[in-house]
Amino acid sequence: MKVVDVHASVNEDLCKGCKTCEMVCPVYAITVGKREKKFKVEINHKRCVGCWNCEQRCPEHAVEMKPCDPYIIGTDVSQFDYNEIEALCRKARFHPKQLVCYCSGSRAEELAAAILSGAKTPDALVLATGVGAGCGIECNQPILRFLESAGLSFERRKQSFQWLGRTITVWEVPSKLKEDFPVFRFEEDRQLFDRIINASVEP
Ligand code: SF4
Ligand code: SF4
Repeated sequence: MKVVDVHASVNEDLCKGCKTCEMVCPVYAITVGKREKKFKVEINHKRCVGCWNCEQRCPEHAVEMKPCDPYIIGTDVSQFDYNEIEALCRKARFHPKQLVCYCSGSRAEELAAAILSGAKTPDALVLATGVGAGCGIECNQPILRFLESAGLSFERRKQSFQWLGRTITVWEVPSKLKEDFPVFRFEEDRQLFDRIINASVEP
């Protein structure tokens, strides 16, 4: 879960219409268009999760984060059958209590609960949990792995730098690669991760 206390806002006098902000927004909250001779940037504050990505990447420094009335986004894990949560976490190869987002401090169990509550796309998971509402680096792959494990496919927006695809995990490294590069100790890593993932959940 995450406390949202800022929203993005754009100074259209500085905007050059490059659409970088639109492409980096994890929840598709930004639309860049044109009005007369100026660029018009619309930000849907009902979706903005205050991640700062647009502010940090705008080449014209046209985006400013402004304080808003704080509110929490998150999914209450206790509302769902924990057996189902555990099963989905282990299928996605995460321990339920494993941190999946350092910015929001969210654990794998919350992503699983959000999927059980009906979230079906990466942006829906961000809005339901706050995972991905920060740097968007560590949490990107857990989100994609959870959706895949739940059998959910989604269409990625073409004009977006977000949700480009899942990377290979240690469970999928081809045998030939393991043999050719023993120095990387893939098998030891896999065994270690398996032990962590399958450890029991403390009450
Ligand atoms: S990234 Fe900055 S310059 Fe580019 S469209 Fe967005 S606000 Fe305008
Ligand atoms: S702060 Fe994040 S969520 Fe809000 S509009 Fe910018 S990129 Fe999108």
